[in-house]
Amino acid sequence: MLVTLIFGGNQGDRKALLDEAIKEMSTIGKIEIRSSLYETAPWGFESENPFYNQIVVYNTELTPEEVLDKCQATEKQLGRVRTGTQFTSRTMDIDILFCDSQIINTPRLTVPHPRMAQRNFVLCPLNEIMPDFIHPVLGKKISELLLESPDTLKTEIIEAC
Ligand code: ADP
Ligand code: MG
Repeated sequence: MLVTLIFGGNQGDRKALLDEAIKEMSTIGKIEIRSSLYETAPWGFESENPFYNQIVVYNTELTPEEVLDKCQATEKQLGRVRTGTQFTSRTMDIDILFCDSQIINTPRLTVPHPRMAQRNFVLCPLNEIMPDFIHPVLGKKISELLLESPDTLKTEIIEAC
């Protein structure tokens, strides 16, 4: 199965954390495609740091649920920054965008990810690596979804792949 994951974080050493998370997730299988690294301004809150996002496609023998387990274990493992003796908020979010062209609706897992079509920080890197992939629920290419996206948030490449 080809599983498409989006990694995101806005705290700590964002690039180092993304690289580490992407490497850790490669225990599920070989990396097939990796997008450039994108930066997106956070919604509304000016005090927050901008997010770094990257999308990676892995070729895995695991089930979607097993991939989710690994995503959540990896978030726990490196997604927290220690400030003094306290853990602050999560620094790493790993979401499953696609599992081949499967449609999954279970209590733990909705695939394709339900909010992706409204988010440029998902659509921009996706459009870079798979513009012609057809969203199995919406029936449209990623390139079309990006053109139709209502999102006005600025998303820019900060490190080309
Ligand atoms: P968010 O990603 O929306 O900021 P979390 O990472 O805390 O929030 O995830 C909340 C829950 O979303 C998880 O417990 C997980 O079971 C569920 N979930 C449903 N669909 C997906 C998906 N496609 N990828 C990742 N998590 C998902
Ligand atoms: Mg998540």
